[in-house]
Amino acid sequence: MTILLGCIADDYTGATDLANTLVRQGMRTVQLFGPPAPDLAVPEAEAMVIALKSRTNPVDQAIAQSLSALEWLQGAGAAQFFFKYCSTFDSTPAGNIGQVTEALLDALSQDFTIACPAFPENGRTLCYGYLFVGRQLLAESGMRDHPLTPMTDSSLVRVLAAQTRHAVGLVDHRTVAAGPEQVRMAFASLRAEGKHHAIVDALSDGHLLTIGAACADLKLITGGSGIALGLPENFRRAGKLPTGAVADALPSVPGAGAVLSGSCSQATLAQVAHMQQSRPSFQLDAMKLAAGEDQVGAAVAWAIERIADGPPLIYASAAPETVRAAQDKLGRVRAGELLEAAMARIAKGLVAAGVRRLVVAGGETSGAVVQALGVNGIRIGPQIDPGVPWTTTLGQPALALALKSGNFGTEDFFLKALDCAP
Ligand code: ADP
Repeated sequence: MTILLGCIADDYTGATDLANTLVRQGMRTVQLFGPPAPDLAVPEAEAMVIALKSRTNPVDQAIAQSLSALEWLQGAGAAQFFFKYCSTFDSTPAGNIGQVTEALLDALSQDFTIACPAFPENGRTLCYGYLFVGRQLLAESGMRDHPLTPMTDSSLVRVLAAQTRHAVGLVDHRTVAAGPEQVRMAFASLRAEGKHHAIVDALSDGHLLTIGAACADLKLITGGSGIALGLPENFRRAGKLPTGAVADALPSVPGAGAVLSGSCSQATLAQVAHMQQSRPSFQLDAMKLAAGEDQVGAAVAWAIERIADGPPLIYASAAPETVRAAQDKLGRVRAGELLEAAMARIAKGLVAAGVRRLVVAGGETSGAVVQALGVNGIRIGPQIDPGVPWTTTLGQPALALALKSGNFGTEDFFLKALDCAP
């Protein structure tokens, strides 16, 4: 198999979001959870996304995982590489976006790449290097309260510079508006100044297409899924990708459905409240889990009793005060891990009971669920909401999974997704 674009994503839902963009632009895309075992039958595809769970790992682990993914993608024939992170640039001064980017540049013998998390369709725009979430600056948005990666500075030039050895420059939206040639010239002058990274502004999909065209010859591109919008066209222009091909076909996966929500984003909290209006719900509690209460067994038994009447909701999602209270008592990492592990075991219990369609909210939460279910890869199908497609697993039993990054989806996302499951 020869793939055109090899991607490495720092979390599972982010990987799916990127794969979704590539599929919508006509590239058949498979997402693998880590470099695959040699005996895995990987379907034909033009793009391969290796999903890691490296966003909040210690930085040396994140680098090692990213480099081994890169090596597999190089072996599969990819000539261009994409490092995908969150459209809200989720990271801390300890890493990992800058450090992983520099390790990938070194491994590819390159000295320049871009960083562009913009995703205008979902309200993430960059203006003079400042990231906006809707109308709010990043550090004034709900991201300031993220349980794992609170974002307290909206200037991505500053945020990235704190994570890199080499200097960070800016290509602002006026240059982007001037077209791909102008952007390429801006890259060249930043490079001449010794800058290895360029934060690139984007306020619209048109800007993303321009940036995509300007990046045709970059070996490594880094950013959110939005920036991938313009990449497939480069391959079409080079005659490597057919026009008009269907890229989102999925096999059908009949069976009962359920929703698992471990994200505490504002969007997810509204989605949980919305589903609670019409469907029963079960709340997990970090304090009860820490005290040894069998919330997992209770939740699975509770769900199995109700599943014939329609999808139940099991959630850990809670408002910032509740999250903080649990974190103060248990520590941020332990509270998160307890709930992720509980969600993972609940997912296993539900699948053992015959559930075949799962909607999972939260990047880390999805990662824990997918790992527990032993899923090694997924095909990417049609989009439910911007950034979130239906997918089906490569192994057995075949499952339909919708892995939703916390911030994504309309208020009625959970039931809407299950209504259009493959
Ligand atoms: P998102 O996509 O919104 O970032 P994630 O699943 O990646 O969601 O991260 C949310 C983190 O918050 C997970 O580690 C999850 O276990 C943790 N979490 C969820 N609910 C609570 C809670 N009530 N108290 C503390 N931590 C929580």
